[in-house]
Amino acid sequence: MSKKILIIGSGIAGISSSLKLKSFGLESTIIDKGNFIGGRVGTRNIESKDNSNYFFHGAQFFTAKSDNFKKVIQNGINKGYIKEYGSFSPPRYRGFKSMRDFLINLSQNLSITQNVKVTNLKPHNEKISVLDDRSNIWETYDAVISTLPAPQNLDLMKKFPILKKTLKTSSYDACISLMFFFDKKPKNIPYFFDYYNQQGILNWMAAGSNLRFWTAHTKGDFSNKNINKDKILLKDKIFQEIEKTIYQLEPTIKINFHSLHIWKYAKVTNVCSGPQIDTKFPVVVAGDFMEGANIESAFSSGEKAAELIFERLH
Ligand SMILES: Cc1cc2nc3c(=O)[nH]c(=O)nc-3n(C[C@H](O)[C@H](O)[C@H](O)COP(=O)(O)OP(=O)(O)OC[C@H]3O[C@@H](n4cnc5c(N)ncnc54)[C@H](O)[C@@H]3O)c2cc1C
Repeated sequence: MSKKILIIGSGIAGISSSLKLKSFGLESTIIDKGNFIGGRVGTRNIESKDNSNYFFHGAQFFTAKSDNFKKVIQNGINKGYIKEYGSFSPPRYRGFKSMRDFLINLSQNLSITQNVKVTNLKPHNEKISVLDDRSNIWETYDAVISTLPAPQNLDLMKKFPILKKTLKTSSYDACISLMFFFDKKPKNIPYFFDYYNQQGILNWMAAGSNLRFWTAHTKGDFSNKNINKDKILLKDKIFQEIEKTIYQLEPTIKINFHSLHIWKYAKVTNVCSGPQIDTKFPVVVAGDFMEGANIESAFSSGEKAAELIFERLH
């Protein structure tokens, strides 16, 4: 069965949709507006000779509950692009050398184009027409899976009232990520700080690919209130918090600011309720907002979307 299927978004949900479709014998094309694959599984690198200095400014690690995702992880461990992160119970994992490597390896045999933004979708006979900002021409597909965060997805689904209704039921917290680095490898600083149950503006602070390159994440309430504030003021406020922790442990180390990244839709606080597939047209939404605020849930939602499309096209 030869079908033309589009997946919008090269985050984990888009990739798992495309892989699942492939397992059914269906090829698909992924397009994404960002420079890099991965979406909120974000990696930023600093040029170095051995190319091993990375900040992880989005997701920090992933876990697996289902046997299915455990298999994906075990395969990545066997092939060397996933490593266990620390010694937690249940175990946590990271892509190796970077978080992005997880998705690059997972999607090796998929067709992915970055730097193309989908700007509109509409029903066309029994199919879906799609407009993007590169071609500026309406292109028609047999089916579309859209994996943008729910509020952005809502903008695209204006002509699909059933999906609009589903998408409206989710909510998100923002997150401000501050990337920083030390002048040398620290001696007395552990590889992460967990502030989840503590007062203050930070949620989590962790080393990236090595102990010199770090990301600090702010808590949801602070992030929601401050995402539109002046970036210099924000940087100073977050930096003060980082310094408090670091200088207590290693007073002579130098902390350098690298950059700030604002995630407007970072963490799902309410998952959607309602249908994932349109009742009439072959269009499906998928992502963490359908199942839970983490990588495994986004993966699982992408697979579900592929199953729904497969059933519909039959
Ligand atoms: C700061 C932060 C920390 C996190 N920490 C963890 C963690 O430690 N562990 C964990 O499991 N999860 C964590 N998460 C959550 C996890 O990253 C997400 O649940 C997961 O990555 C969502 O994947 P997704 O494919 O659903 O969406 P996304 O990764 O958001 O993918 C959507 C893609 O759509 C693209 N896109 C958007 N609009 C368009 C358009 N119009 N046209 C084309 N493409 C478009 C985007 O560029 C993006 O690549 C964290 C998230 C953040 C932001």
